[in-house]
Amino acid sequence: MPQLEIRNLHVRIEDKEILKGLSLTVKQGEIHAIMGPNGTGKSTLAYTLMGHPNYTVTEGDVIFNGQNVLDLEPDERSRLGIFLAFQYPVAIPGVTVANFLRSAINARRRAAHPEDKGMPIHEFRKMLKEKMDMLKMDHAFAGRYLNDGFSGGEKKRAEILQMATLKPSIAILDETDSGLDIDALRVVSEGVNALSGPGLGVLVITHYQRLLNYIKPHFVHVMLDGRIVESGGPELALHLEEQGYEWIREKAEEAA
Ligand code: ADP
Ligand code: MG
Repeated sequence: MPQLEIRNLHVRIEDKEILKGLSLTVKQGEIHAIMGPNGTGKSTLAYTLMGHPNYTVTEGDVIFNGQNVLDLEPDERSRLGIFLAFQYPVAIPGVTVANFLRSAINARRRAAHPEDKGMPIHEFRKMLKEKMDMLKMDHAFAGRYLNDGFSGGEKKRAEILQMATLKPSIAILDETDSGLDIDALRVVSEGVNALSGPGLGVLVITHYQRLLNYIKPHFVHVMLDGRIVESGGPELALHLEEQGYEWIREKAEEAA
């Protein structure tokens, strides 16, 4: 059974149709990259999968482990194992990275078992240390206030650490070009490479070919004008780097 199946997805923002029949299947443990020029609807796809209220699905299905998730709230999707990167990338004064992660874990535990007392602090600390070691992160980072003066790379570090501690079964990462300096690029790619495996599917959305020099996707898809118009292996990303998107646009127009 595919883990995530997007079928003929149509999405509007206000009264403008942005996604125009997008389909994609991700199986357990696969890394998929979605690439495409600016304005094609990549972020719209990410927000829609997360359940952002501004995006209206007019047609199609999003099936996760056999269940249609389109009627679920973002936190319900998260509990099923769909990773939502920080939904409020704002600074939270007085809340450390560690505290933020602990409340996220405990909120999830309580949602599953209302009587849950939360993860004991020593257990949490041990788990956090292990994850930070695995990701080669300095332990001091966990004591910083979340997003307070964070560089692009530090924001990504917090995001990857959140992913490591929440242990989702699929992670959707929308990597806009802004803020992806070399440090951020390295954090994201090393994090994805360290965490990916049979238990974690990844959907990396980027218009940034360079990211795929570091993350090795199993499949690459090209999005144009609200649809996936070309799919292939990692060689497709290299081809795009050399040739740009124009040949795909021409090919798509000929086929239409
Ligand atoms: P990408 O991530 O591929 O650059 P987006 O999904 O951000 O593309 O945007 C797709 C289209 O939707 C663009 O034409 C953009 O102008 C439009 N759009 C995005 N957000 C909004 C919004 N909040 N209101 C109206 N139009 C929007
Ligand atoms: Mg975008």
